[in-house]
Amino acid sequence: MKMYIGGKWVEGSSSGRISKYSPVDGKLMYSFKGASKDDVKAAIGAAESAFDGWSRKTSAERSKLLYRAKELIERDRAALEHILASENGKIPIEAKEEVDGTIDQIQYYAEFARKITGDIVEGESPSRKIMQYLVPRGVVAAITPWNFPAAMVARKLAPALLTGNTVVLKPSSDTPGSAEWIVKKFERAGVPKGVLNMVAGKGSEIGDAIVSDRRVSLVTMTGSTSTGQRIMEKASSNMAKLVLELGGKAPFMVWKDADIGNAMRTLLWAKYWNAGQSCIAAERLYVHEDIYDSFVKRFAAITKRLRLGNPRNADMGPLINSGALANLKETISEAIEGGGKLLAGEERPNMPQAYSSGYYIRPAVITGAGQKSRLFQEEVFGPAIGALSVSSKEELFEKANDSRYGLASYLFTKDLALAQEASERIRFGELYINMPGPEASQGYHTGFRMTGQAGEGSVHGIREYLKLKNVYVEYDSGRTSIPTVRKNLA
Ligand code: NAP
Repeated sequence: MKMYIGGKWVEGSSSGRISKYSPVDGKLMYSFKGASKDDVKAAIGAAESAFDGWSRKTSAERSKLLYRAKELIERDRAALEHILASENGKIPIEAKEEVDGTIDQIQYYAEFARKITGDIVEGESPSRKIMQYLVPRGVVAAITPWNFPAAMVARKLAPALLTGNTVVLKPSSDTPGSAEWIVKKFERAGVPKGVLNMVAGKGSEIGDAIVSDRRVSLVTMTGSTSTGQRIMEKASSNMAKLVLELGGKAPFMVWKDADIGNAMRTLLWAKYWNAGQSCIAAERLYVHEDIYDSFVKRFAAITKRLRLGNPRNADMGPLINSGALANLKETISEAIEGGGKLLAGEERPNMPQAYSSGYYIRPAVITGAGQKSRLFQEEVFGPAIGALSVSSKEELFEKANDSRYGLASYLFTKDLALAQEASERIRFGELYINMPGPEASQGYHTGFRMTGQAGEGSVHGIREYLKLKNVYVEYDSGRTSIPTVRKNLA
């Protein structure tokens, strides 16, 4: 694992080494020297120097680079799937889906070439115009998480580069391999020196140096709310624009008239996709009292049949690391101690020898934990869910909205009036009605409350990478009137 700075691959110059353990079997995969603060400074310097040249190319030229990188990724996609399976523990279908998503993101943003337009606004007299240009912001710091380590990199690199910004990428220190692989594809596609840089290292060691550097104009980060808060604090020193995609606690709402088969299949996806380690994962289950018992029992019964272990025939992979496993166990134990009942799930799954040291846990379905419990209030980020019954629409909306997070939500009903009312009253950035996610490239992925600021995807997401600059023009100089008393002196 090397750093990519100013067009060169160099070893990180921090004093210690970062070790990466396999989520599948707990064995050491590799270790590397992470970036130091000096490496960060060099990467930001390279990005700053490259900005003028890159920003003055046309978006059509920049888009060609994205298409070339996309083709190179597509051609060699099996290698990226392999990295995702080994570094992240993704089962093959999910590794494949993530590569599909990675390619889709790059293609989507590449298609924006020649579609970025400003405005010409009327001035105060007929010969005056205000030209509003959409211009790149400058150096973008892109900080990505480990749960979708390829797709999140693509979702940030592609719009940043297309719009003429230069980038310093800091991938999660848990999954730097997929980021390195993608950056190499951009390099082969011909990205000019300094336009794209990568520093891999612990956020706790180099994060502040990245986000508080006065040369950084935009920080786009996907990760936890606590890290987002830290970034906000540190980035205040340079007034960087922030795009923060943070935690989620999606309510999954099933009304009495729902198509149960559709709701059940979607819940199995929404809860166990990526082993529950997704910001749009179903985290709280609210079911109408008339169908609560049967729905929850059936979900628990199916959950018990999920296969773990050998990725080739597993239904769900492991958690990312031993810390995540310990946290999830603690959340489940606390819910049980607080009066919750485990309908499915046990602490240690019975695993084949080869996977017995992997970070696996049997998925847990818990009833009887209250709305105020940690299970219902804090992001679980793993395969565990609490279920509660609700008896009225008011109770449903109140409980669903009772969260400090506000990213995704799901509703299953055939009642058009309920669906419409939920669209207006559910205070989440995304509401999926009778369907699964994930978010589309052309949707705007954003959240309320502690889920963060701004968003990604669609024309709204692209706009975050651009700044509106105003140029005032008078084309009839004879009509110029100076609005001060000193005008007669000239
Ligand atoms: P995390 O611990 O917050 O880390 C995210 C990134 O921030 C990593 O690259 C991390 O580096 C870096 N970082 C840590 N401390 C930093 C600092 N002081 N300054 C700058 N960067 C710093 O989150 P995670 O555990 O990787 O990801 C899981 C979280 O991401 C969950 O909360 C999930 O909901 C959220 N997420 C949200 C979305 C969304 O679209 N809203 C999508 C996916 C995930 P290190 O790895 O080296 O610590």
